[in-house]
Amino acid sequence: MAESECIFCRIVNGEIPCAKVYEDDAVLAFLDLGPMAKGHTLVVPKRHCENLLAFPEEEAPALIAALKKVGNAVMQATGAGGFHVLQNNFPAAGQTVFHLHWHIIPRSEGDGMSLWAQGTYGEGEMAELAASIAERM
Ligand code: AMP
Ligand code: ZN
Repeated sequence: MAESECIFCRIVNGEIPCAKVYEDDAVLAFLDLGPMAKGHTLVVPKRHCENLLAFPEEEAPALIAALKKVGNAVMQATGAGGFHVLQNNFPAAGQTVFHLHWHIIPRSEGDGMSLWAQGTYGEGEMAELAASIAERM
């Protein structure tokens, strides 16, 4: 996708408004307009890239610092007891905006949100899959 058509590039460039909560040289953070919980915030690298696989490692420290700062502030401002850091890659994982972003989702005890549906492995399946993943690195 051309960066001129990318909605998050347009927000970063100031062409589209957002409810900004944080900005530095590398990162912009603003409220998600369809929140999973009030205070749900998106942390977005300013430089366009589609997903985590395209993200340069050297930009990771600034991003992690922003996640910590924003996560802590969201937790305090919403009175939440914790927060998720969630990041979707490719449509199969629910990615709908193809400009890399991290979701910070505040959580409270008993808020009823359910993200984990845990399964099980068959006999030997776990070791086989672990080996298959490992040999692809
Ligand atoms: P994802 O499914 O991980 O690609 O997440 C995209 C997120 O962007 C969704 O949670 C949307 O609600 C959010 N979103 C899309 N457009 C905007 C916008 N203009 N301002 C704020 N959040 C947006
Ligand atoms: Zn973009």
